Amino acid sequence: MNSQQNSNQNNKQGNNNPDSRNPAATATENPEQTREIICIACPVGCHLQVMFRGGLAKDASPDPDTIAITGNRCPRGEIYGREEVLAPTRMVTTTIPVAGSSFARRVPVRTTGPIPVARIPDLLTQLHAMELHAPLARGQVLLTVEGSENSDNEAIQVVTSHRA
Ligand code: SF4
Repeated sequence: MNSQQNSNQNNKQGNNNPDSRNPAATATENPEQTREIICIACPVGCHLQVMFRGGLAKDASPDPDTIAITGNRCPRGEIYGREEVLAPTRMVTTTIPVAGSSFARRVPVRTTGPIPVARIPDLLTQLHAMELHAPLARGQVLLTVEGSENSDNEAIQVVTSHRA
């Protein structure tokens, strides 16, 4: 049976496993990739090699079942490496102008937890369009980041880091 017959046979049998349809084509379309990142889960800063397949197309995620990580000295590095290629998040900090304060022209603000990287540009646009007025207390809530929660299922908020 040649490869075309093999493919037809698989299709007739309803075999949807892409690897069994055409392994050579799959290896080309879905090559193994390696991303080198530094773990920031502790000050040691291990250099991780994160290998995976998939994620080539725009907005496509790597196949979680193919992820393999080396270079980590502890299990936290594996968790960080997986999150970094599947759904990277970051804490956000910036400053916003404040009117009416006798000692500050801008007030530093921060998120109360990491948010998806893809949401950061919109959040910064929203924050930089705000007009704040003194007095502001330290830790004052400015807004809630829609749809973002921490590991305790608490909504992520943007708060002031200092009073103004
Ligand atoms: S892998 Fe572990 S030891 Fe290495 S930086 Fe990450 S948390 Fe620290």
